[in-house]
Amino acid sequence: MGNVLIVVEQAEGQLRTASLSAVTFGKKMAETTGGKLSLLVIGSGVDKVAAEAANLGAADVTFVDDGALKNYLAETYAPIVVKAAQEKGVSVVGVTATAFGKDLMPRVAALLDAGMAADVVAIVAANKFRRPMLAGNVIAEIEVVTPIVCATIRQTEFAPAQAAGAASPVAKMDAGPIDAKGAEFVSLAAAKSDRPELTEAKVVISGGRGMRESKNFDELAKLADLVGGAMGASRAACDAGMVPNDLQVGQTGKVVAPKLYVAVAISGAIQHLAGMKGSKVIVAVNKDPEAPIFQVADYGLVTTWEKALPELMTEIGKLKAAQR
Ligand SMILES: Cc1cc2nc3c(=O)[nH]c(=O)nc-3n(C[C@H](O)[C@H](O)[C@H](O)COP(=O)(O)OP(=O)(O)OC[C@H]3O[C@@H](n4cnc5c(N)ncnc54)[C@H](O)[C@@H]3O)c2cc1C
Repeated sequence: MGNVLIVVEQAEGQLRTASLSAVTFGKKMAETTGGKLSLLVIGSGVDKVAAEAANLGAADVTFVDDGALKNYLAETYAPIVVKAAQEKGVSVVGVTATAFGKDLMPRVAALLDAGMAADVVAIVAANKFRRPMLAGNVIAEIEVVTPIVCATIRQTEFAPAQAAGAASPVAKMDAGPIDAKGAEFVSLAAAKSDRPELTEAKVVISGGRGMRESKNFDELAKLADLVGGAMGASRAACDAGMVPNDLQVGQTGKVVAPKLYVAVAISGAIQHLAGMKGSKVIVAVNKDPEAPIFQVADYGLVTTWEKALPELMTEIGKLKAAQR
């Protein structure tokens, strides 16, 4: 029997919804190992996040709250995860494969002398997992033979955990000595946007190479703002300099799973699909009826974006006016 520890990500005292997928993974993992699921929240001023995490159906929630942990550094966070893992006697430590999770978990694995299962898309057994490899062209089944397994979880493949029954007990853990080992947080250069964060948004409007130039993305931005969505893009559009790289969705970009994903002038290459095919509803606008994006789309418009976008915005505008 092995217990399971899931690290719940937070930003500025808000629980990141991406973490909810790792919690679902944790529940499934605990059923597989026969152990119990614990959640861990780390940061400064995170007692509210811990209280929120207590509603997710885990056996318990531990939080570590210290002003020195306000800004994330793998150097300061990883030893805390290790301490919690040892106290809980876990056989699996997991986190969603966000930029935070992908940065944190390899260091945790090194400190625990544990094997890593990165980008897990399915659980096969207590130490066996499936994960995509070779740009998503194959799904590998991997076995981790160390006593503890460290895993990063692909958000799109595990549904977000829902609030469940009675709240779990919450306990504060002492961080112990916090040593950044020479690393220092200097500043965070995050792009400021009034739109929701790409990986957290309920609606994502993405554009591809067929948008042709940067200024045409203004049309997509109008649609995104109309529906309160985030902007995304294919790698081709980012590489061509039409939009910044942080909008890239896909294998080597961000993985998103919104309620609605609108792919405009995107062909649907396998590497792009790897980042969005877990979306609940997919709408594709493409002038080529043979574009592979239509194979994953729930709704497809075979037309140009020049024609489709104004019409879509007019109809959405009418619906919104009728709701007022
Ligand atoms: C290792 C590796 C990793 C990669 N990682 C990623 C990744 O993370 N994300 C990613 O997106 N790609 C990634 N790629 C690149 C990927 O293979 C594709 O090249 C890329 O996704 C294509 O982008 P696109 O669909 O915008 O462009 P294209 O494939 O050129 O498609 C443009 C589409 O626009 C349509 N179109 C053109 N004009 C119009 C119009 N006026 N109205 C409507 N439709 C129109 C065309 O019919 C076409 O289907 C990766 C590739 C490799 C090898």
